[in-house]
Amino acid sequence: MPPPRTREKALRHRLAELRGPEVQAKALDARALAALAANPGCRRRAILDGAGVNKAVLADALGSPSVFGQSQFAFVRGNAFEAKVKADGGTELLRLAHEKLDRAAEPPADARVPDLTAQGPQGRTARTELALREATEAPGTWTLLDHPMLALDVAGSPAFLEPDAVVVHPDGSWTVVEIKSFPMLDGAADPAKVGAAARQSAVYVLALERVAARLDPAPRVRHRILLVCPKDFSNLPTASAVDVRKQRAVTARQLDRLTRIEEIADTLPEGTCFSPELPAERLAEAVESVPATYAPECLSACELAFHCRDRSRAQGAVTRLGRPVRAELGGLTTVEDVLAAARGEAGDPDDPAVAALRRAAALRAEALEAAALEVAPCP
Ligand code: SF4
Repeated sequence: MPPPRTREKALRHRLAELRGPEVQAKALDARALAALAANPGCRRRAILDGAGVNKAVLADALGSPSVFGQSQFAFVRGNAFEAKVKADGGTELLRLAHEKLDRAAEPPADARVPDLTAQGPQGRTARTELALREATEAPGTWTLLDHPMLALDVAGSPAFLEPDAVVVHPDGSWTVVEIKSFPMLDGAADPAKVGAAARQSAVYVLALERVAARLDPAPRVRHRILLVCPKDFSNLPTASAVDVRKQRAVTARQLDRLTRIEEIADTLPEGTCFSPELPAERLAEAVESVPATYAPECLSACELAFHCRDRSRAQGAVTRLGRPVRAELGGLTTVEDVLAAARGEAGDPDDPAVAALRRAAALRAEALEAAALEVAPCP
């Protein structure tokens, strides 16, 4: 087996080939990493993200554009809200961190807000690490890191991640802060949006843990993050502590799987390329050469969702009915298989899924027969 550096170089070369000549790699961000964790079995997404393919551009070139992205209005409103939360040296943000996460500590006063400006992502990452180290080595006070930059190794290349903020508590522990513009009504926000924010924050927690592991002694990275949102229908900030342990564990597992991108790349036919410059048919062929696990959840998490949904429909795949239905159907992977099993034309009768389908089909036939008798005209 070649030495690791040679293998790494070969993989980089292979991923660049997959991206296409002269195509810049799209950096992975926390949202993309969190979405990967949401559909861990999708090899298609794993290889496209691993190779730095811009999936939104790819979806356009395939003729199935994605509907991702924030409206300009939402973007401006989100930025204005974040600026309000961080105004006055983050006074309100730190007050919320104290109230929701660390009531036993001294209330924040004269908190430090280090300057994190530096050249390029590598420079900003190093500056962030230094600021975290300094804040942790001089505990007793609160420190707010505004838009720090963290690096996380993904399949051999660094993904640069930028949380909204990180707070260093007086005891030296670290908390990720996520600021969102969706409202918290009576102390609770839309669970789906909170779930997405938790998955994104879990990625930052993992990246922070990598930094913490390089310090001696390693500071504690808290697994309850601070989610800050507008209160009710106002633009006043409110917050809640969100436990991201589960999301962190899932994401960590998925990132470990991502290191096997090499294996997926090895299964692709020679000459496979996802360059948006290619004709749509060739591109579709390349995309189809990687197995996907489409699920309705993809519609809110992946730029290729419309393309994959169309293919899933065309193949009659049961995945498009949702993961719970898919799980119930066991080895029956297409709607055609399911109908044949229900009609008794195929399938092992001892298979619980097949038996349940036949029972359901019989009940349906009985019900239809009864209904037909009820409406039958008198002779
Ligand atoms: S939309 Fe397609 S590529 Fe994206 S996660 Fe779903 S199945 Fe995978």
